[in-house]
Amino acid sequence: MNKEHQINFWYVVAALIAVMLLQSYWVRYQTVEHIPYSEFQSLLEAGKVSDVVVTETTLRGKLTSPGPNQKSEFVTNKVDPNVAEYLSKYKVRYRAETESTFLTTILSWVLPALIFVGIWMFAIRRMAGGMGGSGLLAIGKSKARVYLEKQTGVTFADVAGVDEAKDELKEIVDFLKSPEKHSRLGARLPKGILLIGPPGTGKTLLARAVAGEAGVPFFSIGGSEFVEMFVGVGAARVRDLFEQARKHAPCIIFIDELDALGRARGTFMMGGHDEKEQTLNQLLAELDGFDPRVGIVLLAATNRPETLDPALLRAGRFDRQVLVDRPDKKGRVDILNVHLRKVKLDADVEVEQVAALTPGFTGADLANLVNEAALLATRRGGNSVNLNDFVQAIERIIAGLEKRNRVLIPHEREVIAFHETGHALVAMALPGMDPVQKVSIIPRGVGALGYTIQRPIEDRFLMDRAELERKLAVLLGGRAAETLVFPAVSTGAADDLQKVTDIARSMVTRFGMVPELGQVSYEAEASRFLTPIPGAPPPMRWYSEATAARIDAAVNDIVENAFAHARAILEDNRALLDEMAHALLKQETLSGAALSAIADRVHREATPASAGLIAAARPIDRGM
Ligand code: ADP
Ligand code: MG
Ligand code: ZN
Repeated sequence: MNKEHQINFWYVVAALIAVMLLQSYWVRYQTVEHIPYSEFQSLLEAGKVSDVVVTETTLRGKLTSPGPNQKSEFVTNKVDPNVAEYLSKYKVRYRAETESTFLTTILSWVLPALIFVGIWMFAIRRMAGGMGGSGLLAIGKSKARVYLEKQTGVTFADVAGVDEAKDELKEIVDFLKSPEKHSRLGARLPKGILLIGPPGTGKTLLARAVAGEAGVPFFSIGGSEFVEMFVGVGAARVRDLFEQARKHAPCIIFIDELDALGRARGTFMMGGHDEKEQTLNQLLAELDGFDPRVGIVLLAATNRPETLDPALLRAGRFDRQVLVDRPDKKGRVDILNVHLRKVKLDADVEVEQVAALTPGFTGADLANLVNEAALLATRRGGNSVNLNDFVQAIERIIAGLEKRNRVLIPHEREVIAFHETGHALVAMALPGMDPVQKVSIIPRGVGALGYTIQRPIEDRFLMDRAELERKLAVLLGGRAAETLVFPAVSTGAADDLQKVTDIARSMVTRFGMVPELGQVSYEAEASRFLTPIPGAPPPMRWYSEATAARIDAAVNDIVENAFAHARAILEDNRALLDEMAHALLKQETLSGAALSAIADRVHREATPASAGLIAAARPIDRGM
């Protein structure tokens, strides 16, 4: 029973009591005549009265033979206190009666209570309204604000420039269209698919397109809607969401901005801690509990994957991650074409040209651009949108974006192009490295796949010293290329250097890879990788100042050697470095055939005996 029904119930009780009272008064009023005491006296003296009932304040009786206009009973106020004596004089049957005060008593108690309850209900209802629909009475019963769309009306044709993500999601569409086909051999789809990418790249749009293509209902909910003041409410909502979805299968559940809910446990600030943990635990439990063969696909989106709880990304949960990155030039052309369908274009507008002017723009920025240009054209009273409108709109949007540090000036692009090329060439030249798959100078806010951050390499790979040294050389390739080409180095290598230092320090202090320092573990495994606690004190040091100095020197040695190695490789391939960097500046991304053509021309190093123990299968670069 919800609060609406509770209020109705009280209304009904009040109405019933009122009706009962009215009825009893009405009946009496119908048959009983109020007469003055004097008239009663004369009636009594005339012998027309029988059966008198004496109460404290009234006399009630019957008339022996009422006239045509008279009622058969009468009542009068008692005047003479000695009625008994008086009545017995006239031989009338009489009896006394104490007045029934039952009804009036009830009334005097119940009515105020009813009024009170009414006011209370009203107040509660107002409060509920103020709290956005979930009042105090509704705690735990409230439904999450799930938006159910039977048909999203969005298809893959509306999403452009993210072909890789689209390809990965096509499989999901197939599955939703014919679940039997896929479950025939017992195959199961990934339970959860996490769309990762900077804001505005079309993650929400993609999720809706999957539902639209498959023609299934689309449940969407924001991660922040699970975050509640009261412990347990969020968890109840998660349960509820999955319950509803099961009724509508096949369908898609989409949790937008998952990071609001799934932030790593133990990193919450004070307050809301327990609630978020419970909600997250419930989500994990639901993820473990549902069978993807019933046809529910769970999609989620985030632009901050590095803050997610590692438990969410484990196999069997959000085990597939789809990167929705900023579009390259070709992607921008495609996206512009999608949005230009709606506007009237002048003949002088070349989509290629507009795309060339907008590096770093996301899909949302481009949609905004088309709209701004159309507005400008309208304002100047033109018949169609021309190139100048676009140029003006771009300038305006870039001014806004520059504040957010997302659009690069030409020199920055150049530095980045050489930096990335440096990483790529060193990786290509060294033996035992995975082939480089893609090099890109499109600015990306998120960095690459954030999940690598949370898994320290040494948990997953057994690597020998030579392997690690080559890895360091690749990481330093970016900085090395900068020193070769530009007079001064940039800040762009900060993230690389951080990683390099981490690895080199581990080699010295944990892996015992430097003979001079012996096979000694100087530091315990840094658990901060798993549950980073901001502001935690640095771990205790168990060695002397002198050893600390030797460790620092050894770390420095390793890094310097790796750097010299990277620089030597690049010097050896100097012409190719220039060529590749310029190609990158022009095309923004290099992949596939273009990359393998370059890789074939790199001067490689000979394969040492221990090479290829384990290949490092992860993005080389994150920061830049
Ligand atoms: P996100 O969820 O990644 O922050 P949205 O999906 O909300 O981004 O995108 C916002 C809007 O930007 C979309 O409604 C669409 O108009 C436009 N947009 C973004 N990416 C694309 C794309 N790849 N293709 C076409 N339009 C896009
Ligand atoms: Mg979104
Ligand atoms: Zn780098």
